Amino acid sequence: MECLVCDRIEKIKRGENPYFVREMNTGYVVIGDHQRIPGYTVFLCKECATELHYLAPDFRQEFLREMSLVAEAVHKAFNADKMNYALLGVGSGLHMHWHLYPRHAGDTPKPGPVWQLGKELHEPEYLPTPEQLEELKAKLNAELEKLIEA
Ligand SMILES: [Zn+2]
Repeated sequence: MECLVCDRIEKIKRGENPYFVREMNTGYVVIGDHQRIPGYTVFLCKECATELHYLAPDFRQEFLREMSLVAEAVHKAFNADKMNYALLGVGSGLHMHWHLYPRHAGDTPKPGPVWQLGKELHEPEYLPTPEQLEELKAKLNAELEKLIEA
């Protein structure tokens, strides 16, 4: 059975995922497919597991530390007012992955989670152009680099 997240990780390993930003110890950083919320980033767990408590303790600690570091980089790269974090599962494996949204006042019709946007979140008009994607990746990678070196 196919896992949508494992499938994307395989594409990264083959050099065929244009959204790929950086490999971490426990996961892969990618720009979110649709940029209705500019700077939206996803952190894919290297383990095809559904829950944090199924991870080995050391791996879990490192996964959470790295997620926090990625979120900090997103915050800095896209000047967020507030980060939103969601750990979801998708596909046959319900493979966990973090959705990291850099939020700004007024970026949704009402204050609150992005889910209020419904299918607007995935409208084709929010797919980044290749140039926009390169810019998003470069900004995020520059902030990640600073935090990793610190
Ligand atoms: Zn998987």
